[in-house]
Amino acid sequence: MVDTRGFQSHYWLDHEGVRFGAGKQSALLYHPLKVSSLELDTGKKELIVNLDHMGDHHYVQQTTSNQVGKVRHPSEYRTNEERVDSFSLVVGYQPKVMARFIIQPYGYLTTHVWTEHADEQTLESNRAIYFGSEKSTQASQAVGGFVKHRIPVTKSVFYSNPYYKPYLRSHIAIEQHPQFLPFLDELHKQGNEIVLHTLYLFELRHYQSTTENILAFMKNRFGSVTWIDHGYLKSSFAFDGLDKKTPHYLAQMWEKYDTKYFWHYSAEDTANTNLSLDLYQTRKNDALRTPLYWSHPTVTGPFYTWASAVVPEDTMYQYSGKNLYELIHNRGVFINYTYLARVPSSERAGRFMIRNANGEWVIHPAFDQLLKKLSTLRDQGDLYLTTVRDIMNYWIAISQVRMEYAPSGAIWLHNEGKQKISGLSMATQSNEVFVNGKKPLQREVDGERIFWFDLEPGARAVISSNPADH
Ligand SMILES: [Zn+2]
Repeated sequence: MVDTRGFQSHYWLDHEGVRFGAGKQSALLYHPLKVSSLELDTGKKELIVNLDHMGDHHYVQQTTSNQVGKVRHPSEYRTNEERVDSFSLVVGYQPKVMARFIIQPYGYLTTHVWTEHADEQTLESNRAIYFGSEKSTQASQAVGGFVKHRIPVTKSVFYSNPYYKPYLRSHIAIEQHPQFLPFLDELHKQGNEIVLHTLYLFELRHYQSTTENILAFMKNRFGSVTWIDHGYLKSSFAFDGLDKKTPHYLAQMWEKYDTKYFWHYSAEDTANTNLSLDLYQTRKNDALRTPLYWSHPTVTGPFYTWASAVVPEDTMYQYSGKNLYELIHNRGVFINYTYLARVPSSERAGRFMIRNANGEWVIHPAFDQLLKKLSTLRDQGDLYLTTVRDIMNYWIAISQVRMEYAPSGAIWLHNEGKQKISGLSMATQSNEVFVNGKKPLQREVDGERIFWFDLEPGARAVISSNPADH
């Protein structure tokens, strides 16, 4: 969103930007890739460029002796170590066209991601959530649920549970139930993201060769790039997984097998669903520091954390029409953390699933209605329903696009990443917009023109308000 009047006293601007003045008496800073974040204090008339701010990259390390863990938010540098940060300020020149990135591709207005922790599930409960009924054994037989409504989930699974007992709330795992893997294959084919919820759910010793086999399996079978920690296990991301000096070190395996997007407890630090169904928490104000993802400069190496907010089953009422309307109207982003296929503790009914008259698990009708509503909002082009993998790939791709303001008044975008960016979306207040001299796909929303196009790796796109500008 763009504020042009009625300013709040303080803004945390992340990697977005600000323009002061107009025409020759102006200064513009936008999309600074190599700093931690921007803040604007309108009262003091100050722009703050955070080169490294601990609030932008939370990481708490679990320790056996201390439940709170060791706070390692600040970067850790040794004597004489150096780092270089840079940003560009455009002064005395205002481009003819102003355009900003929007947070998701293909002209959608807002993003929602379902993520699932793997605890206390059975095959029957999984079929109820994804296919609508435990009686539906294939995607083609779906009578409701996520598959029927074509809503993808970032679904975590346990690889192995030696203590598994069929039909109980005893945590299904790939290795113990022969029908679980074919079920996951179907979900994968339908666009769901299948990832590990650690390897085992108990504190079992990870032997290097077993670990390697499992991570290779997940990569080859599902293309897994995401990981969701389970509790305080020592081989998790937030415990000893990054610590080379322990037998629980996994980082070299994660790196080798492309696991790069992590959920750990610190991912939950900013959002609160009691305030709004939005990681930006805009209902409060825009001063809040609400990064959507981050990589800790010195602790987490090449890995990223993605923010999320827990939605306990008994708070599903937060998914009201009003909150969904606000999420879209405010152009928010929401990545939830749920236990979708967890067998309800009553063994009779929960908010996600319920037993029917025959005693079979089926998706809860009210929850199925919600999924139907979400899919309608998606089909209208407003709500981008996606996975952690896809939205993180998009965000990281956008962070590798360099912006340059050309003398013609146009904007040049350079894709310095290695991947093609599909449906790259921007918004402008210009009446007309051209990409490389041609009209891109576009829509008009709230007085803004949202447009999108593809950008190949190494390619340049010229954004202009006049097809002759280049
Ligand atoms: Zn768990």
